[in-house]
Amino acid sequence: MNDRLAQDAVAAGEALARGETTPSALLDLCLERIDATKDLNAFITVDDPRAQAEAADRRYAAGAPLSRLDGVPIALKDLIATEGLRTTAGSKMLADWVPPYDATVTRLLRAAGAIIVGKTNLDEFAMGSSNEHSAFGSVKNPRDPTRVPGGSSGGSAAAVAAHQVFGALGTDTGGSIRQPAAMCGIVGLKPTYGRVSRRGVVAFASSLDQVGPMARSVRDVAALLDVIAVHDPEDMTSRSDPPPNAFASVERGVEGLRVGVPEAFFSEGLAPEIEAAVRASVARFESLGAKVKPVELPHTKYALSTYYILCTAEASSNLARYDGLRYGHRAAAKDLVSTYEKSRAEGFGPEVQRRIILGTYVLSAGYYDAYYGRAQKVRTLVRQDFERAFDDVDVIVTPTTPQVAFEIGAKTRDPLEMYLSDVYTLSVNLAGLPGVSLPCGEANGLPIGVQLLGRWFDEATLLAAARTLESAIQFGMHAPGMPMPPKQ
Ligand code: GLN
Repeated sequence: MNDRLAQDAVAAGEALARGETTPSALLDLCLERIDATKDLNAFITVDDPRAQAEAADRRYAAGAPLSRLDGVPIALKDLIATEGLRTTAGSKMLADWVPPYDATVTRLLRAAGAIIVGKTNLDEFAMGSSNEHSAFGSVKNPRDPTRVPGGSSGGSAAAVAAHQVFGALGTDTGGSIRQPAAMCGIVGLKPTYGRVSRRGVVAFASSLDQVGPMARSVRDVAALLDVIAVHDPEDMTSRSDPPPNAFASVERGVEGLRVGVPEAFFSEGLAPEIEAAVRASVARFESLGAKVKPVELPHTKYALSTYYILCTAEASSNLARYDGLRYGHRAAAKDLVSTYEKSRAEGFGPEVQRRIILGTYVLSAGYYDAYYGRAQKVRTLVRQDFERAFDDVDVIVTPTTPQVAFEIGAKTRDPLEMYLSDVYTLSVNLAGLPGVSLPCGEANGLPIGVQLLGRWFDEATLLAAARTLESAIQFGMHAPGMPMPPKQ
């Protein structure tokens, strides 16, 4: 494999600026690598954006790149709309849908010159934790192809970890950026809810969904965040807070930073190797000048059940639009009602159907107050726990996942087991907080992720802490002895 592909996105951009390579050459390397490792099944659609790369070649030749990511090949999770390039959401329902417009994040990346090489695999409609619920087949973990990459942004995580692209976007409703980042040994950030536009992103649970960057270094994630974190008047949940300014702050250090450790997150079911690696990261923060203190998050234990009531309720309503008439899969049927029924029965896979049924139930008359109404109240309590904790600390440290990447097929028969993969990530979505996962160790050659949480709209402090830990523990892309992805 070419060394150039092992760099991070910022280093690739610097090499372009120095004239050591060109966007077209980088695109060729990535396309060759994607082809050589195609058994990973990380992509649903690979494009050949030759014209865009050549336009970037000309900008560099003229000494006028658009940004530090100009000409750098990246990928998008396949529920982010791309004009003229099909966007499937990992579902048979949208298998042939070619969007007539770009999502706002797509447009912003193009405006920064990034080269979108393709659309990555995912659990259908982003519902899942292993990428096994995709109508386009499972994705393999590049670190061990018998194992899952995590999900639902499993294709994005695998593509970045296997050096097929220099970065990717994912979406995170309950952990879908951070959990696969942890399982594939890369960095993944879920920004604050409202930080990044959701316009043109296929909706799963709108009060929780958030788009974010996945890459091989914290500074890459910061650079990508700066590009996509722009107020969008076309998404009413997009906020107009000052920009994160993440890249410029990433080397700020942690001197005097107050780091909170919630014992509620070191719970039953946490693998001992993960606990040890995360506690070692906490100790590292202390030795770097941070002040470590315990924090209480007493409602964490209700987060999983709360999340699965709210996300299924919202999904049942969001997915009502796929009726076989307006767009998406249409079954041949004799009348209106059977067109609805057959189209939805054929177009949606079993996990999506399970969620629609659950969501319809918790919203139905007679059950609404007992389930949906109560879950909304518990959501407020979860958020208030974090508000109190952040009075005392600047960053909270937890494990990202209870287990390392599991074997393909190990949890598909037991939905509850699968849902438990996100037990440490989903309270963050309920509270709307920013969270990042970065590699902090290995267990039997499989990556371990540590999760850092920050205050609402303070991604700058969060990523500076992540960057300090990354450079101190050197467990990311530059770690000595880190096995390169196997040649497929
Ligand atoms: N695994 C969780 C779920 O299945 C989270 C998914 C996500 O964040 N999109 O709902």
